[in-house]
Amino acid sequence: MAVQDEMPAGIMPDFRRELPSYLKEMAGKWIWHETVQPGVLRHVGRDGSILLSVRILLPPNGLLAAPSLRLLASWIRKYALVGRRTSRQSFELVGVDPAKLDMLLEEIHQAGFLVGGTGKTAHQIKCCTSFVHCQNAALDAPSLAKALGDHLWRYFQDFGLPAWLKISISGCPNGCGGGVEADIGIIGVYQGFPEVDDEALVEANEDIGLLVSWCPTKAIRPKVTPKGTSVTINLARCVRCGSCMQAAAAGIKLKGERGAAILVGGRGGPAPSLAGVVFPFLPVKPPEYKEIKEKISCILEVWIEKAQAGERLGAFVERMGWGRFLQAVGGSSDVRFRQNLYLKF
Ligand code: SF4
Ligand code: SF4
Repeated sequence: MAVQDEMPAGIMPDFRRELPSYLKEMAGKWIWHETVQPGVLRHVGRDGSILLSVRILLPPNGLLAAPSLRLLASWIRKYALVGRRTSRQSFELVGVDPAKLDMLLEEIHQAGFLVGGTGKTAHQIKCCTSFVHCQNAALDAPSLAKALGDHLWRYFQDFGLPAWLKISISGCPNGCGGGVEADIGIIGVYQGFPEVDDEALVEANEDIGLLVSWCPTKAIRPKVTPKGTSVTINLARCVRCGSCMQAAAAGIKLKGERGAAILVGGRGGPAPSLAGVVFPFLPVKPPEYKEIKEKISCILEVWIEKAQAGERLGAFVERMGWGRFLQAVGGSSDVRFRQNLYLKF
């Protein structure tokens, strides 16, 4: 297989213009890759060619200001063929010259970035933007990702884990940062129910039909008020997903405590599986997030101590049995929570 020669014209930028000729020529000819040291991958071609990639952990959510982007660009120019942002919000320098690897690693270290997150280590903690520019957040995913990353940083470079470890954080049940497909997912949840401000909703001139159709459980119905059409919510049907707040932020707010649910055992790729809820509602206390860090540490300790080599967290829990696992980590023994993030508590 090779990189497609011809592609239809369209508005999307063409990825081929970013590719240096060597990578175009070698496309489809790579047969093997391995992690040679934390964060450094070696790709081996059919003809014996060697290509190095260096993975840099980015600030949470992959947020980059111009000076950081300039720094990444300078490393591409000096040391590599091209750069790419990974699906987990880290950054890879692709095609690093082996003779310059040590110099590059030192420069990255001096700039305050961490190299790691490849192979059987913890990978970059992926998260959504939350409050940075979203109105739905029940927790601040980037600051939690930072606190958790600081807490677990050795695991980004430590091959002592039984298998890959992927942690994803979403600020609310909409799940933009992932979670249900991660080994460990942390998702912001609302303890309260949505409340409608009739006046604000009418004033905002929201599309009521869209709002009604947005609700996954058909809990929302139109309601006529003296000033215009608002909505009423049947709380018995509401699962506190937050979608109505997303559709009509001006007139609907989810009230009450906000917390975090911890899910365990999801994975993408081959044999994908969804994570199950282990802790349905933990307090969210920035900047330390002590309670969440303690629970994550406990989950990791049990996994590291008892898992077989190569056993991802989900496979380990299935082998151990959910009952015994929940007991070992002090999780909710209410099995109804396991596949239901929205269960009322
Ligand atoms: S997961 Fe929720 S808080 Fe995060 S970006 Fe999506 S809608 Fe916003
Ligand atoms: S929170 Fe979700 S389930 Fe509840 S009313 Fe809003 S959209 Fe419907």
